[in-house]
Amino acid sequence: MNKIVFSGIQPTGELHIGNYFGAVANWVRIQNSGEYDATYCVVDMHAMTMPYDPPTLRKNTEGLFIDLLAAGLDPAKSTVFIQSLVPEHAELQWIFSCICSFGDLTRQVTFKEKSEQLEGRQDAFVSAGLFNYPVLQAADILLYRAGFVPVGKDQEQHLELSRTIANRFNRTFGHEYFPEPAVLATETPKLLSLNDPTRKMSKSLGPKSYVALFEDEKNVRSKIRSAITDTGEPASEIGAGALNLLGLLRATGRADVAAAFETEYATGEQRRYAPLKDAVADAMVDLTAGFRARRAEIAGDKDAIRRLMYEGAEKARVVASQTIKDVRRLVGLPRR
Ligand code: ATP
Ligand code: MG
Repeated sequence: MNKIVFSGIQPTGELHIGNYFGAVANWVRIQNSGEYDATYCVVDMHAMTMPYDPPTLRKNTEGLFIDLLAAGLDPAKSTVFIQSLVPEHAELQWIFSCICSFGDLTRQVTFKEKSEQLEGRQDAFVSAGLFNYPVLQAADILLYRAGFVPVGKDQEQHLELSRTIANRFNRTFGHEYFPEPAVLATETPKLLSLNDPTRKMSKSLGPKSYVALFEDEKNVRSKIRSAITDTGEPASEIGAGALNLLGLLRATGRADVAAAFETEYATGEQRRYAPLKDAVADAMVDLTAGFRARRAEIAGDKDAIRRLMYEGAEKARVVASQTIKDVRRLVGLPRR
């Protein structure tokens, strides 16, 4: 397998610790290992699949680009860009739509979840884009012929579909052109929502669901303090929310502290969660303070940010346009 990595994130709200520990921290690690050719993307076209407000989308897209730099992505080491500035994503998506089966798309769990989220909302509108979203995601990845995709657990089914599409393309048009991309997961592939540990932490579940990566101390402490620990588990088991908090401690490198709590809780007697919450809040405050300082440094230079945005897209297009040239030839479209 090649050493090409691709991953993306939607500008649908604030970057949160689930995104960070499930995906972005891995992106930075992969970049700094120097072993991979890595491309990371703010997928603004994916954010159009749910009802949205245009000025907010534009603001969030630029904001997330800055967030990613503050979180450690370095445009000198990785390609970092905004999806819609590289039109080849949409072009490959159409070609893939024609080799992706309707049945496979109907089985995607995220479509069910997101369309259910819309139920009862005044702006509810289930678009064909929401249904097609995994095809665009396959195009995002395969445009760079990536073999590895660092994402959280919620994206596994989409990745399976990307492999199906790559495989079908290769069988139909020959030449083993696309690799079948594999997930690169972290030790924290699924953080649960703080206020509802039966669901995964998500931007679209709203700010009470998550701690944002750039959140201030007061908010961080109050959110962790009110985190739900138990969801009706039997008394002999540690609650799903409490396990989630223990996972957070381990993710921040405090595995010894987490282990001490686990030993204490293993007795099955009355469990005291307040000290666990204090320890998690301390860890989160340390983390977010560092990110806030770095973001403030970067965000001041608007011209530099804009330059990086457009340079990133140009760099991505060098690869993307070559793939499209090859694909057009293989599928029978005229040379441009
Ligand atoms: P939305 O609610 O708009 O879908 P999101 O919070 O799910 O937003 P995405 O932009 O869809 O974020 O996903 C970005 C990356 O973060 C993906 O790799 C995804 O797997 C990962 N991710 C998202 N939520 C979590 C989570 N709770 N735990 C671990 N990884 C996550
Ligand atoms: Mg998501």
